[in-house]
Amino acid sequence: MGKVLIIGCGGVASVAIHKCCQNSSVFEEICIASRTVSKCDALKEKLQGTTSAKITTAQVNADHVDELVALIRKEKPDVVLNLALPYQDLTIMDACLETKTHYVDTANYEPEDTAKFEYSWQWAYREKFEKAGITALLGSGFDPGVTGVFSAYALKHEFDEINYIDILDCNGGDHGYPFATNFNPEINIREVSAKGSYWEDGHWVETEPMEIKREYDFAEVGMKDMYLLHHEEIESLALNIPGIKRIRFFMTFGQSYLTHLKCLENVGMTSIEPIMFEGKEIVPLQFLKAVLPDPASLGPRTKGKTNIGCIFRGKKDGKEKTYYLYNVCDHEECYKEVGSQAVAYTTGVPAMIGAMMIMTGKWNKPGVHNIEEFDPDPFMDALNKWGLPWREDHDPVLVD
Ligand code: NDP
Repeated sequence: MGKVLIIGCGGVASVAIHKCCQNSSVFEEICIASRTVSKCDALKEKLQGTTSAKITTAQVNADHVDELVALIRKEKPDVVLNLALPYQDLTIMDACLETKTHYVDTANYEPEDTAKFEYSWQWAYREKFEKAGITALLGSGFDPGVTGVFSAYALKHEFDEINYIDILDCNGGDHGYPFATNFNPEINIREVSAKGSYWEDGHWVETEPMEIKREYDFAEVGMKDMYLLHHEEIESLALNIPGIKRIRFFMTFGQSYLTHLKCLENVGMTSIEPIMFEGKEIVPLQFLKAVLPDPASLGPRTKGKTNIGCIFRGKKDGKEKTYYLYNVCDHEECYKEVGSQAVAYTTGVPAMIGAMMIMTGKWNKPGVHNIEEFDPDPFMDALNKWGLPWREDHDPVLVD
């Protein structure tokens, strides 16, 4: 079918690349380009005997639009799949515009010097992408990503109107370390140490970090504490789901994680303000990232399951109804299949599927769009086929 250029070669990219290789009738050619080309070469070495896809590699600094434009002009991909960090979203979108190439990512833009993420920066490209006749698909991971597809599916098939969405992200995995993060530590800690917020009656309600706690009994995982966080898909779902009254996002954390995080915060290690250290400027959070376990190394140690999904409440044929869509994913099974733990797997699989939707033309809507704006059905079928089967519950326990 075509060629994908994947930018970044970390935990999530590694899974997406494995999956593109399994899906070589769609991804006939895969170019892996990242800052550290040796990681791309090592992955190519591991995978090239296992797939009919042609794999090439390249070095690129995705902070520089000119380097990206030169790479895209040389490789001529049909789709660019951005699996670098949120800091690179805008430069990669600029390069896609200049070369008229479709764009897919998994996380919204975040300026490196401010721990703030929102869609405004990327939505500002809507008209330019529309005029160029190319599609930008934003947020094709699990959350954001599958949670948006679940919402579009629930609206299409189960409800006339959805009024309440609770997104529940549970990681019941245990990697045996007292403290480690399951994806990029810098991005993860910025997210969880920020203030929480939820959408209610047309406006944001802000909370202190980890202020709102609930317990939930997750299928195949059991009872877990979960905390309300701000999360990016709330912003787009609030616009794209008509009749919505409230959207909340909860993530599970164990006590050990929270105690370590509080301690690191209290001593200033999670700060993104640069400080001078032995005559050199360093950012404490970036130094912390360097001493924490690399999330990619957690794969062989992690046991247990993730359970991520959405509980919907709304109306069908004039009656109130509830509906829960979720996926359960086993860390050890993921490791056996692609050498990664389930957090990278549950993000990398939808990233591949999003790129496939654009590559095959199943989704074709020039402009900049969030995932719930597309027909969910082919994506839902692909989740079942490519390793993230979903389950339904028509009578779920609700979160108060
Ligand atoms: P990693 O840190 O493991 O990987 C990031 C990769 O990007 C590395 O290969 C890194 O290169 C590369 N990179 C960083 N900066 C540049 C640059 N300037 N130019 C070129 N390459 C660069 O991160 P993850 O794989 O954990 O996360 C990837 C993305 O997925 C993030 O945006 C994250 O927010 C998102 N994510 C989304 C989720 C969802 O459900 N939607 C869930 C989890 C993550 P190097 O090897 O040199 O450092």
